[in-house]
Amino acid sequence: MIYNTLIVGAGSAGNILAARLTEDPNRQLLLLEAGPDYPTSDSLPADIRLGYGTSSGIYSITHDWGYTGHATAQVTAMPVPRGKLVGGSSAVNAQVFLRGAPEDFAAWAALGNDQWSFEQALPYYCKLENDRDFGAADYHGADGPIGVRRYPEKEWGPDQQAWFDACRQAGHPHCPDANKPHSTGAGPFPLNNIDGIRQSTAVTYLAQARGRPNLRILADCTTRRVLLEGKRAIGVEIERHGQQERHYADEVILCAGAVGTPQILMLSGIGPATQLREIDVDVRHHLPGVGQNMRDHPTTNLQWLLQPQFTPTDHHHWLQACLRYTADGSDLDNDMIVYTIASSIDELFWVRPTLNLALGRGELCLRSANIHDKPILSYHYFEEPFDRQRQREGIRLCAEMVEEHPAFRQLVGPLKSGPGNALHDDAALDRWIFANADTSHHTSSTCKMGPTTDSLAVTDQTGRVHGIDSLRIVDASLMPDSVRANINATVMMMAEKIADNYSF
Ligand SMILES: Cc1cc2nc3c(=O)[nH]c(=O)nc-3n(C[C@H](O)[C@H](O)[C@H](O)COP(=O)(O)OP(=O)(O)OC[C@H]3O[C@@H](n4cnc5c(N)ncnc54)[C@H](O)[C@@H]3O)c2cc1C
Repeated sequence: MIYNTLIVGAGSAGNILAARLTEDPNRQLLLLEAGPDYPTSDSLPADIRLGYGTSSGIYSITHDWGYTGHATAQVTAMPVPRGKLVGGSSAVNAQVFLRGAPEDFAAWAALGNDQWSFEQALPYYCKLENDRDFGAADYHGADGPIGVRRYPEKEWGPDQQAWFDACRQAGHPHCPDANKPHSTGAGPFPLNNIDGIRQSTAVTYLAQARGRPNLRILADCTTRRVLLEGKRAIGVEIERHGQQERHYADEVILCAGAVGTPQILMLSGIGPATQLREIDVDVRHHLPGVGQNMRDHPTTNLQWLLQPQFTPTDHHHWLQACLRYTADGSDLDNDMIVYTIASSIDELFWVRPTLNLALGRGELCLRSANIHDKPILSYHYFEEPFDRQRQREGIRLCAEMVEEHPAFRQLVGPLKSGPGNALHDDAALDRWIFANADTSHHTSSTCKMGPTTDSLAVTDQTGRVHGIDSLRIVDASLMPDSVRANINATVMMMAEKIADNYSF
Protein backbone atom coordinates (compact mmCIF):
# COMPACT_ATOMS: atom_id res chain seq x y z
CA MET A 1 0.00 0.00 0.00
CA ILE A 2 1.18 3.54 -0.70
CA TYR A 3 0.09 5.84 2.13
CA ASN A 4 -0.60 9.49 1.61
CA THR A 5 1.52 10.42 4.61
CA LEU A 6 4.08 8.53 6.63
CA ILE A 7 5.24 9.93 9.99
CA VAL A 8 8.38 8.68 11.74
CA GLY A 9 8.25 9.17 15.51
CA ALA A 10 5.14 9.17 17.72
CA GLY A 11 6.34 11.82 20.16
CA SER A 12 5.26 15.35 21.06
CA ALA A 13 5.08 16.52 17.46
CA GLY A 14 4.40 13.25 15.64
CA ASN A 15 1.23 12.40 17.55
CA ILE A 16 -0.22 15.86 17.05
CA LEU A 17 0.42 15.74 13.32
CA ALA A 18 -0.99 12.22 13.10
CA ALA A 19 -4.12 13.28 14.98
CA ARG A 20 -4.69 16.50 13.05
CA LEU A 21 -3.88 15.16 9.57
CA THR A 22 -6.19 12.15 9.96
CA GLU A 23 -9.11 14.48 10.62
CA ASP A 24 -9.25 14.35 6.84
CA PRO A 25 -10.80 10.90 6.25
CA ASN A 26 -9.31 10.79 2.77
CA ARG A 27 -5.75 10.81 4.06
CA GLN A 28 -4.26 7.36 4.73
CA LEU A 29 -1.54 7.84 7.34
CA LEU A 30 1.08 5.49 8.77
CA LEU A 31 2.68 6.43 12.11
CA LEU A 32 5.92 4.58 12.87
CA GLU A 33 7.52 4.40 16.31
CA ALA A 34 10.67 2.64 17.56
CA GLY A 35 9.34 2.06 21.08
CA PRO A 36 6.30 0.18 22.37
CA ASP A 37 2.70 1.31 22.27
CA TYR A 38 0.41 1.33 25.32
CA PRO A 39 -2.95 2.01 23.72
CA THR A 40 -4.84 3.02 26.88
CA SER A 41 -3.92 5.17 29.83
CA ASP A 42 -4.57 2.24 32.16
CA SER A 43 -2.09 0.05 30.31
CA LEU A 44 0.76 2.55 30.80
CA PRO A 45 3.48 1.60 33.29
CA ALA A 46 3.23 3.73 36.45
CA ASP A 47 6.45 5.66 35.80
CA ILE A 48 5.10 6.74 32.42
CA ARG A 49 1.57 7.49 33.57
CA LEU A 50 2.55 9.42 36.68
CA GLY A 51 6.21 10.45 36.69
CA TYR A 52 7.83 13.21 38.76
CA GLY A 53 5.51 12.46 41.60
CA THR A 54 6.24 8.84 42.23
CA SER A 55 9.14 7.00 43.75
CA SER A 56 10.02 5.76 40.26
CA GLY A 57 12.57 8.49 39.71
CA ILE A 58 13.14 11.76 37.95
CA TYR A 59 12.68 10.23 34.55
CA SER A 60 11.78 6.85 33.22
CA ILE A 61 14.74 4.63 32.44
CA THR A 62 12.46 1.87 31.24
CA HIS A 63 11.64 3.61 27.96
CA ASP A 64 14.80 5.55 27.22
CA TRP A 65 17.11 5.68 24.20
CA GLY A 66 20.07 5.74 26.59
CA TYR A 67 22.03 8.50 24.89
CA THR A 68 24.94 10.20 26.57
CA GLY A 69 26.47 13.52 25.67
CA HIS A 70 29.64 15.54 26.11
CA ALA A 71 28.49 18.44 28.26
CA THR A 72 31.96 19.94 28.59
CA ALA A 73 35.51 18.64 28.22
CA GLN A 74 35.22 17.27 31.77
CA VAL A 75 31.70 15.81 31.62
CA THR A 76 31.83 13.33 28.78
CA ALA A 77 29.13 10.81 29.67
CA MET A 78 26.18 12.96 30.65
CA PRO A 79 22.92 10.99 30.41
CA VAL A 80 20.61 12.51 27.78
CA PRO A 81 17.25 10.80 28.25
CA ARG A 82 14.77 10.68 25.34
CA GLY A 83 11.48 8.84 25.47
CA LYS A 84 11.30 5.65 23.41
CA LEU A 85 7.64 4.71 23.21
CA VAL A 86 4.44 6.03 21.70
CA GLY A 87 4.31 9.45 23.35
CA GLY A 88 8.05 10.01 22.91
CA SER A 89 9.64 12.45 25.32
CA SER A 90 6.21 13.88 26.12
CA ALA A 91 5.60 10.56 27.89
CA VAL A 92 8.68 10.77 30.12
CA ASN A 93 9.11 14.49 30.67
CA ALA A 94 8.63 16.68 33.72
CA GLN A 95 5.45 18.29 32.37
CA VAL A 96 6.55 21.86 32.95
CA PHE A 97 4.32 23.67 30.50
CA LEU A 98 5.88 27.02 29.69
CA ARG A 99 5.59 29.00 26.50
CA GLY A 100 8.37 30.77 24.67
CA ALA A 101 8.61 34.53 25.10
CA PRO A 102 7.50 37.02 22.41
CA GLU A 103 11.17 38.01 22.04
CA ASP A 104 12.11 34.42 21.16
CA PHE A 105 9.81 34.49 18.18
CA ALA A 106 11.04 37.93 17.17
CA ALA A 107 14.50 36.34 17.06
CA TRP A 108 13.21 33.45 14.92
CA ALA A 109 11.59 35.96 12.56
CA ALA A 110 14.81 37.97 12.39
CA LEU A 111 16.56 34.78 11.24
CA GLY A 112 14.28 34.73 8.20
CA ASN A 113 11.22 32.93 9.64
CA ASP A 114 8.63 35.64 9.32
CA GLN A 115 5.70 33.21 9.76
CA TRP A 116 6.77 32.60 13.36
CA SER A 117 6.07 35.86 15.17
CA PHE A 118 4.59 35.47 18.66
CA GLU A 119 1.26 36.78 17.32
CA GLN A 120 1.22 33.94 14.78
CA ALA A 121 2.27 31.34 17.37
CA LEU A 122 -0.14 32.38 20.13
CA PRO A 123 -3.37 30.98 18.59
CA TYR A 124 -1.71 27.54 18.47
CA TYR A 125 -0.43 27.72 22.04
CA CYS A 126 -4.07 28.42 22.93
CA LYS A 127 -5.45 25.72 20.64
CA LEU A 128 -3.46 22.92 22.24
CA GLU A 129 -4.23 23.68 25.89
CA ASN A 130 -7.08 23.40 28.30
CA ASP A 131 -5.88 25.73 31.02
CA ARG A 132 -7.88 24.74 34.11
CA ASP A 133 -6.85 27.87 36.02
CA PHE A 134 -7.27 30.67 33.52
CA GLY A 135 -9.77 29.25 31.01
CA ALA A 136 -10.26 30.97 27.70
CA ALA A 137 -8.63 34.26 28.65
CA ASP A 138 -7.04 36.53 26.02
CA TYR A 139 -3.88 34.50 25.86
CA HIS A 140 -5.16 31.10 27.06
CA GLY A 141 -7.20 28.24 25.63
CA ALA A 142 -9.82 26.08 27.33
CA ASP A 143 -10.69 23.56 24.61
CA GLY A 144 -7.37 21.93 23.69
CA PRO A 145 -6.40 18.30 24.34
CA ILE A 146 -3.58 19.14 26.80
CA GLY A 147 -4.84 19.80 30.32
CA VAL A 148 -2.78 22.32 32.29
CA ARG A 149 -2.96 23.35 35.93
CA ARG A 150 -0.91 24.94 38.67
CA TYR A 151 -0.76 23.72 42.25
CA PRO A 152 -2.47 26.26 44.50
CA GLU A 153 -0.13 27.45 47.25
CA LYS A 154 -2.08 25.63 49.93
CA GLU A 155 -1.11 22.32 48.28
CA TRP A 156 2.61 23.07 47.99
CA GLY A 157 5.15 20.94 49.82
CA PRO A 158 7.06 22.79 52.57
CA ASP A 159 10.22 22.92 50.42
CA GLN A 160 8.35 24.58 47.54
CA GLN A 161 6.74 27.07 49.92
CA ALA A 162 10.15 27.84 51.45
CA TRP A 163 11.61 28.40 47.98
CA PHE A 164 8.80 30.73 47.00
CA ASP A 165 9.14 32.67 50.28
CA ALA A 166 12.90 32.96 49.78
CA CYS A 167 12.36 34.25 46.22
CA ARG A 168 9.86 36.83 47.39
CA GLN A 169 12.15 37.96 50.18
CA ALA A 170 14.97 38.31 47.66
CA GLY A 171 12.77 40.79 45.79
CA HIS A 172 11.38 38.68 42.93
CA PRO A 173 7.81 39.65 41.99
CA HIS A 174 4.88 37.28 42.45
CA CYS A 175 3.97 35.64 39.13
CA PRO A 176 0.61 33.83 39.26
CA ASP A 177 0.71 32.93 35.55
CA ALA A 178 4.11 32.27 34.04
CA ASN A 179 2.46 31.86 30.61
CA LYS A 180 1.25 35.44 30.57
CA PRO A 181 3.45 37.23 28.03
CA HIS A 182 6.19 39.33 29.68
CA SER A 183 5.51 37.92 33.16
CA THR A 184 8.48 37.20 35.44
CA GLY A 185 9.30 36.27 39.02
CA ALA A 186 8.19 33.50 41.38
CA GLY A 187 4.95 31.56 41.30
CA PRO A 188 3.42 28.22 40.46
CA PHE A 189 4.73 26.12 37.60
CA PRO A 190 2.09 25.49 34.91
CA LEU A 191 2.09 21.70 34.55
CA ASN A 192 0.49 19.47 31.95
CA ASN A 193 -0.40 17.04 34.69
CA ILE A 194 -4.01 16.48 35.68
CA ASP A 195 -4.83 14.46 38.81
CA GLY A 196 -1.29 13.11 38.77
CA ILE A 197 -1.55 11.88 35.17
CA ARG A 198 1.07 13.09 32.70
CA GLN A 199 -0.71 14.66 29.71
CA SER A 200 1.49 13.21 27.01
CA THR A 201 0.47 13.52 23.37
CA ALA A 202 -0.27 9.76 23.48
CA VAL A 203 -2.99 9.98 26.15
CA THR A 204 -4.42 13.19 24.68
CA TYR A 205 -4.14 13.79 20.94
CA LEU A 206 -3.45 10.24 19.80
CA ALA A 207 -6.02 8.71 22.14
CA GLN A 208 -8.68 10.80 20.41
CA ALA A 209 -7.56 9.70 16.94
CA ARG A 210 -6.79 6.01 17.47
CA GLY A 211 -10.10 4.67 16.30
CA ARG A 212 -9.88 6.26 12.86
CA PRO A 213 -9.73 3.76 10.01
CA ASN A 214 -7.30 5.99 8.08
CA LEU A 215 -4.67 5.91 10.85
CA ARG A 216 -2.32 2.95 11.23
CA ILE A 217 0.13 2.92 14.14
CA LEU A 218 3.12 0.62 13.89
CA ALA A 219 5.17 0.44 17.10
CA ASP A 220 8.41 -1.42 17.91
CA CYS A 221 9.96 -0.61 14.57
CA THR A 222 13.08 1.45 14.04
CA THR A 223 13.32 3.60 10.94
CA ARG A 224 16.77 3.24 9.39
CA ARG A 225 16.55 5.69 6.55
CA VAL A 226 14.34 7.61 4.16
CA LEU A 227 14.04 6.06 0.72
CA LEU A 228 14.80 8.52 -2.05
CA GLU A 229 14.07 8.48 -5.74
CA GLY A 230 16.42 11.12 -7.06
CA LYS A 231 15.69 14.12 -4.85
CA ARG A 232 12.23 12.92 -3.74
CA ALA A 233 11.29 10.97 -0.62
CA ILE A 234 9.15 7.95 -1.42
CA GLY A 235 9.09 6.02 1.86
CA VAL A 236 11.26 4.59 4.62
CA GLU A 237 13.22 1.47 5.42
CA ILE A 238 12.54 0.07 8.87
CA GLU A 239 13.57 -2.80 11.12
CA ARG A 240 10.77 -4.77 12.73
CA HIS A 241 11.15 -8.03 14.66
CA GLY A 242 14.69 -8.32 13.29
CA GLN A 243 13.49 -8.02 9.70
CA GLN A 244 13.90 -5.22 7.21
CA GLU A 245 10.72 -3.73 5.70
CA ARG A 246 9.94 -0.89 3.35
CA HIS A 247 6.89 1.35 3.55
CA TYR A 248 5.94 3.82 0.86
CA ALA A 249 4.07 7.12 0.92
CA ASP A 250 3.49 10.26 -1.10
CA GLU A 251 5.21 12.25 1.65
CA VAL A 252 7.39 11.50 4.65
CA ILE A 253 7.44 13.57 7.84
CA LEU A 254 10.31 13.08 10.27
CA CYS A 255 9.19 13.66 13.86
CA ALA A 256 11.95 11.59 15.49
CA GLY A 257 13.16 14.42 17.72
CA ALA A 258 16.30 16.54 17.87
CA VAL A 259 18.54 13.45 18.03
CA GLY A 260 16.61 10.94 15.93
CA THR A 261 15.70 13.21 13.03
CA PRO A 262 19.23 14.39 12.10
CA GLN A 263 20.44 10.82 12.55
CA ILE A 264 17.86 9.45 10.11
CA LEU A 265 18.53 12.27 7.65
CA MET A 266 22.26 11.61 7.66
CA LEU A 267 21.75 7.87 7.29
CA SER A 268 19.62 8.70 4.25
CA GLY A 269 22.52 10.59 2.71
CA ILE A 270 21.19 14.05 3.55
CA GLY A 271 23.64 16.12 5.58
CA PRO A 272 27.19 17.47 5.64
CA ALA A 273 28.88 15.68 2.74
CA THR A 274 32.32 15.34 4.35
CA GLN A 275 30.87 13.78 7.49
CA LEU A 276 28.72 11.37 5.50
CA ARG A 277 31.70 10.19 3.46
CA GLU A 278 33.69 9.58 6.66
CA ILE A 279 31.08 7.05 7.78
CA ASP A 280 30.61 5.55 4.32
CA VAL A 281 27.15 6.92 3.64
CA ASP A 282 26.38 7.68 0.02
CA VAL A 283 25.79 11.45 -0.26
CA ARG A 284 22.38 12.08 -1.80
CA HIS A 285 22.09 15.74 -0.87
CA HIS A 286 24.66 17.99 0.80
CA LEU A 287 22.97 19.93 3.62
CA PRO A 288 25.68 21.23 5.95
CA GLY A 289 23.29 22.32 8.72
CA VAL A 290 22.07 18.83 9.63
CA GLY A 291 23.23 18.14 13.21
CA GLN A 292 24.64 21.64 13.68
CA ASN A 293 23.27 24.49 15.81
CA MET A 294 22.32 22.17 18.70
CA ARG A 295 20.79 24.03 21.63
CA ASP A 296 19.86 23.15 25.19
CA HIS A 297 19.33 24.82 28.54
CA PRO A 298 22.54 24.06 30.46
CA THR A 299 22.35 23.70 34.20
CA THR A 300 24.28 22.66 37.32
CA ASN A 301 22.93 20.90 40.40
CA LEU A 302 23.26 22.05 43.97
CA GLN A 303 22.21 19.44 46.53
CA TRP A 304 21.55 19.74 50.22
CA LEU A 305 20.88 16.88 52.60
CA LEU A 306 17.38 16.87 54.00
CA GLN A 307 16.83 17.33 57.72
CA PRO A 308 15.85 14.00 59.29
CA GLN A 309 12.46 15.36 60.37
CA PHE A 310 11.53 16.34 56.77
CA THR A 311 10.19 13.57 54.55
CA PRO A 312 9.00 14.87 51.19
CA THR A 313 5.76 13.43 49.91
CA ASP A 314 5.73 11.60 46.60
CA HIS A 315 1.99 11.89 46.20
CA HIS A 316 2.11 14.91 43.94
CA HIS A 317 4.32 16.44 41.30
CA TRP A 318 7.61 17.59 42.79
CA LEU A 319 7.94 20.81 40.83
CA GLN A 320 5.48 23.35 42.12
CA ALA A 321 7.17 26.73 42.62
CA CYS A 322 9.05 28.33 39.76
CA LEU A 323 11.49 31.23 39.58
CA ARG A 324 12.37 33.06 36.38
CA TYR A 325 14.47 36.19 36.43
CA THR A 326 16.76 38.28 34.25
CA ALA A 327 20.48 37.97 34.98
CA ASP A 328 22.35 41.06 36.05
CA GLY A 329 23.43 43.08 33.01
CA SER A 330 21.48 40.90 30.57
CA ASP A 331 19.20 42.33 27.92
CA LEU A 332 17.48 38.93 27.54
CA ASP A 333 14.43 39.02 29.82
CA ASN A 334 13.86 35.86 31.89
CA ASP A 335 17.12 34.36 30.72
CA MET A 336 17.38 32.32 33.93
CA ILE A 337 15.06 29.72 35.48
CA VAL A 338 15.46 27.75 38.71
CA TYR A 339 14.02 24.32 39.50
CA THR A 340 13.91 22.95 43.04
CA ILE A 341 12.97 19.44 44.11
CA ALA A 342 12.93 17.74 47.50
CA SER A 343 13.36 14.12 46.49
CA SER A 344 12.15 11.23 48.58
CA ILE A 345 14.35 8.90 46.52
CA ASP A 346 17.79 10.25 47.35
CA GLU A 347 16.64 12.39 50.30
CA LEU A 348 18.19 15.51 48.85
CA PHE A 349 17.00 19.01 48.12
CA TRP A 350 18.02 19.77 44.54
CA VAL A 351 18.36 23.31 43.22
CA ARG A 352 19.05 23.77 39.51
CA PRO A 353 19.88 27.32 38.37
CA THR A 354 19.55 27.03 34.59
CA LEU A 355 20.34 29.14 31.54
CA ASN A 356 16.93 29.68 30.01
CA LEU A 357 18.53 31.07 26.85
CA ALA A 358 22.17 30.12 26.37
CA LEU A 359 24.44 31.69 23.77
CA GLY A 360 26.43 28.48 23.35
CA ARG A 361 25.62 25.82 20.82
CA GLY A 362 26.79 22.30 20.10
CA GLU A 363 26.60 19.70 17.38
CA LEU A 364 25.53 16.14 16.66
CA CYS A 365 27.66 13.76 14.57
CA LEU A 366 27.31 10.10 13.69
CA ARG A 367 29.74 7.40 14.77
CA SER A 368 28.83 5.06 11.95
CA ALA A 369 26.23 4.19 9.35
CA ASN A 370 24.51 1.85 11.80
CA ILE A 371 21.20 3.20 13.16
CA HIS A 372 21.92 1.44 16.46
CA ASP A 373 25.15 3.37 17.07
CA LYS A 374 24.18 6.33 19.22
CA PRO A 375 25.12 9.73 17.79
CA ILE A 376 27.89 11.82 19.38
CA LEU A 377 26.27 14.74 21.15
CA SER A 378 28.73 17.58 21.85
CA TYR A 379 27.02 20.35 23.80
CA HIS A 380 29.91 22.78 24.52
CA TYR A 381 28.09 24.10 27.58
CA PHE A 382 29.37 27.25 29.23
CA GLU A 383 32.07 27.99 26.66
CA GLU A 384 30.57 31.44 26.13
CA PRO A 385 31.82 33.86 28.84
CA PHE A 386 28.34 35.37 29.20
CA ASP A 387 26.84 31.91 29.83
CA ARG A 388 29.40 31.33 32.60
CA GLN A 389 28.81 34.76 34.07
CA ARG A 390 25.07 34.17 34.32
CA GLN A 391 25.54 30.68 35.72
CA ARG A 392 27.95 31.91 38.41
CA GLU A 393 25.43 34.52 39.46
CA GLY A 394 22.62 31.95 39.48
CA ILE A 395 24.58 29.55 41.67
CA ARG A 396 25.46 32.28 44.15
CA LEU A 397 21.92 33.56 44.28
CA CYS A 398 20.48 30.08 44.89
CA ALA A 399 23.10 29.14 47.48
CA GLU A 400 22.40 32.31 49.38
CA MET A 401 18.63 31.87 49.31
CA VAL A 402 18.76 28.29 50.60
CA GLU A 403 21.50 28.90 53.17
CA GLU A 404 20.11 32.17 54.49
CA HIS A 405 16.32 31.90 54.42
CA PRO A 406 15.00 30.79 57.83
CA ALA A 407 12.25 28.62 56.28
CA PHE A 408 14.89 26.19 55.00
CA ARG A 409 16.42 25.54 58.44
CA GLN A 410 13.78 22.96 59.32
CA LEU A 411 14.08 21.33 55.89
CA VAL A 412 17.67 21.16 54.69
CA GLY A 413 20.95 20.39 56.38
CA PRO A 414 24.49 20.68 55.04
CA LEU A 415 25.39 21.09 51.37
CA LYS A 416 26.15 17.67 49.89
CA SER A 417 27.17 18.73 46.42
CA GLY A 418 28.06 22.24 45.33
CA PRO A 419 31.00 24.55 44.77
CA GLY A 420 31.84 24.93 48.50
CA ASN A 421 34.82 27.26 48.86
CA ALA A 422 34.85 27.95 45.12
CA LEU A 423 31.60 29.91 45.44
CA HIS A 424 33.20 33.34 45.73
CA ASP A 425 36.11 32.90 43.33
CA ASP A 426 35.15 33.33 39.66
CA ALA A 427 37.89 31.13 38.20
CA ALA A 428 37.34 28.36 40.76
CA LEU A 429 33.59 28.54 40.29
CA ASP A 430 34.01 28.27 36.52
CA ARG A 431 36.06 25.12 37.03
CA TRP A 432 33.30 23.71 39.22
CA ILE A 433 30.69 24.62 36.58
CA PHE A 434 32.68 22.86 33.84
CA ALA A 435 33.04 19.78 36.02
CA ASN A 436 29.36 19.67 37.02
CA ALA A 437 27.49 20.79 33.91
CA ASP A 438 24.23 19.01 33.22
CA THR A 439 21.37 19.04 30.75
CA SER A 440 17.86 20.20 31.49
CA HIS A 441 16.65 17.84 28.73
CA HIS A 442 15.78 20.46 26.12
CA THR A 443 17.96 19.48 23.16
CA SER A 444 16.74 21.25 20.03
CA SER A 445 17.58 23.02 16.79
CA THR A 446 19.66 20.33 15.05
CA CYS A 447 17.83 20.80 11.71
CA LYS A 448 16.89 24.43 11.91
CA MET A 449 14.38 26.08 9.63
CA GLY A 450 15.37 29.18 7.69
CA PRO A 451 15.75 30.62 4.22
CA THR A 452 18.05 29.05 1.64
CA THR A 453 20.31 32.09 2.00
CA ASP A 454 21.25 30.67 5.43
CA SER A 455 23.76 27.94 4.61
CA LEU A 456 22.92 26.06 7.83
CA ALA A 457 19.14 26.09 7.33
CA VAL A 458 17.81 22.57 6.74
CA THR A 459 14.14 23.30 6.05
CA ASP A 460 11.85 26.12 5.05
CA GLN A 461 9.47 27.68 7.56
CA THR A 462 6.99 24.86 7.25
CA GLY A 463 9.55 22.13 7.79
CA ARG A 464 10.03 21.16 4.13
CA VAL A 465 13.60 19.95 3.68
CA HIS A 466 15.56 22.20 1.34
CA GLY A 467 16.40 20.45 -1.90
CA ILE A 468 14.36 17.26 -1.28
CA ASP A 469 10.75 16.92 -2.37
CA SER A 470 8.05 15.29 -0.23
CA LEU A 471 10.17 15.30 2.91
CA ARG A 472 9.31 17.37 5.96
CA ILE A 473 10.57 17.73 9.51
CA VAL A 474 8.32 18.67 12.41
CA ASP A 475 9.85 18.36 15.88
CA ALA A 476 12.29 20.06 18.25
CA SER A 477 15.08 19.91 15.69
CA LEU A 478 13.28 22.54 13.60
CA MET A 479 13.65 25.39 16.09
CA PRO A 480 16.16 27.97 14.79
CA ASP A 481 17.12 28.78 18.37
CA SER A 482 15.75 27.59 21.67
CA VAL A 483 13.06 29.51 23.48
CA ARG A 484 13.47 30.78 27.02
CA ALA A 485 11.16 28.11 28.35
CA ASN A 486 11.00 24.33 28.60
CA ILE A 487 10.41 23.44 24.99
CA ASN A 488 7.60 20.87 24.92
CA ALA A 489 4.74 23.40 24.69
CA THR A 490 6.58 25.08 21.82
CA VAL A 491 7.20 21.81 19.96
CA MET A 492 3.49 21.00 20.28
CA MET A 493 2.54 24.51 19.16
CA MET A 494 4.77 24.13 16.10
CA ALA A 495 3.09 20.83 15.20
CA GLU A 496 -0.38 22.37 15.58
CA LYS A 497 0.58 25.37 13.45
CA ILE A 498 2.18 23.34 10.67
CA ALA A 499 -0.76 20.89 10.65
CA ASP A 500 -3.22 23.77 10.36
CA ASN A 501 -1.55 25.22 7.28
CA TYR A 502 -0.66 21.85 5.83
CA SER A 503 0.19 21.45 2.18
CA PHE A 504 2.98 19.82 0.29
C1 LIG B 1 13.52 13.59 31.10
C2 LIG B 1 12.94 14.72 30.30
C3 LIG B 1 12.29 15.76 30.97
C4 LIG B 1 11.76 16.81 30.24
N1 LIG B 1 11.02 17.75 30.88
C5 LIG B 1 10.37 18.69 30.17
C6 LIG B 1 9.45 19.57 30.80
O1 LIG B 1 9.17 19.48 31.99
N2 LIG B 1 8.83 20.50 30.03
C7 LIG B 1 9.10 20.62 28.70
O2 LIG B 1 8.55 21.54 28.09
N3 LIG B 1 9.96 19.81 28.09
C8 LIG B 1 10.57 18.82 28.78
N4 LIG B 1 11.37 17.93 28.15
C9 LIG B 1 11.62 18.12 26.70
C10 LIG B 1 10.44 17.73 25.84
O3 LIG B 1 9.72 16.65 26.36
C11 LIG B 1 10.98 17.39 24.44
O4 LIG B 1 11.76 18.45 23.97
C12 LIG B 1 9.86 17.13 23.45
O5 LIG B 1 9.04 16.08 23.92
C13 LIG B 1 10.46 16.79 22.09
O6 LIG B 1 9.44 16.47 21.21
P1 LIG B 1 9.81 15.85 19.79
O7 LIG B 1 8.52 15.63 19.10
O8 LIG B 1 10.83 16.71 19.16
O9 LIG B 1 10.55 14.49 20.12
P2 LIG B 1 10.05 13.24 20.97
O10 LIG B 1 8.85 13.58 21.79
O11 LIG B 1 11.25 12.73 21.69
O12 LIG B 1 9.58 12.20 19.87
C14 LIG B 1 10.46 11.53 19.01
C15 LIG B 1 9.91 10.12 18.78
O13 LIG B 1 10.58 9.54 17.70
C16 LIG B 1 10.92 8.21 18.01
N5 LIG B 1 12.09 7.86 17.21
C17 LIG B 1 13.34 8.39 17.26
N6 LIG B 1 14.14 7.80 16.37
C18 LIG B 1 13.39 6.87 15.72
C19 LIG B 1 13.66 5.92 14.70
N7 LIG B 1 14.87 5.80 14.13
N8 LIG B 1 12.64 5.12 14.27
C20 LIG B 1 11.40 5.22 14.80
N9 LIG B 1 11.10 6.09 15.79
C21 LIG B 1 12.08 6.91 16.24
C22 LIG B 1 11.20 8.25 19.50
O14 LIG B 1 11.13 6.99 20.12
C23 LIG B 1 10.11 9.21 19.98
O15 LIG B 1 8.92 8.55 20.28
C24 LIG B 1 11.92 16.86 28.83
C25 LIG B 1 12.55 15.81 28.15
C26 LIG B 1 13.04 14.74 28.87
C27 LIG B 1 13.68 13.62 28.12
